[in-house]
Amino acid sequence: MSMEDYDFLFKIVLIGNAGVGKTCLVRRFTQGLFPPGQGATIGVDFMIKTIWDTAGQERFRSITQSYYRSANALILTYDITCEESFRCLPEWLREIEQYANNEVITVLVGNKIDLAERREVSQQRAEEFAGSQNMYYLETSAKESDNVEKLFLDLACRLISEA
Ligand code: GDP
Ligand code: MG
Repeated sequence: MSMEDYDFLFKIVLIGNAGVGKTCLVRRFTQGLFPPGQGATIGVDFMIKTIWDTAGQERFRSITQSYYRSANALILTYDITCEESFRCLPEWLREIEQYANNEVITVLVGNKIDLAERREVSQQRAEEFAGSQNMYYLETSAKESDNVEKLFLDLACRLISEA
């Protein structure tokens, strides 16, 4: 499969505070699906290309506009063991409002559920916040590969159904 052979092409951007696990989620998904043969079981072939990733410069916001431009979906990520990363979500939503296109699909992700004993943000609180903002909510562990495929596959299904 070459990059030109796709049926659908979507730009999915991960945002959220530095350290919440964005890079690990992308890495987990791409590595988890790509041992040959595995793609067939889900009936969808994925080609993921990470064009570039940041090394925490997202904190400086100077790259904001190019980051959001033409994104079809945003995965707004926080760390369930880090209250601060949850408290910053409204700030991220303001940025989405300002820079993303109006039709963008946003999914809220609480990552690091393998560290449940250190949880600082309850699932109920996150679900309420997501509901109030019309966002779909999912908890993941990039480390344990929990819900990571579901996150990207559900998102892809929604993108395809709305394409
Ligand atoms: P980013 O700055 O949002 O891209 O975050 P990274 O993907 O670089 O991850 C930041 C740190 O969190 C790294 O030390 C990762 O190993 C760790 N990390 C990421 N995802 C998980 C997870 O699901 N569980 C645990 N326990 N650690 C994680
Ligand atoms: Mg990163």
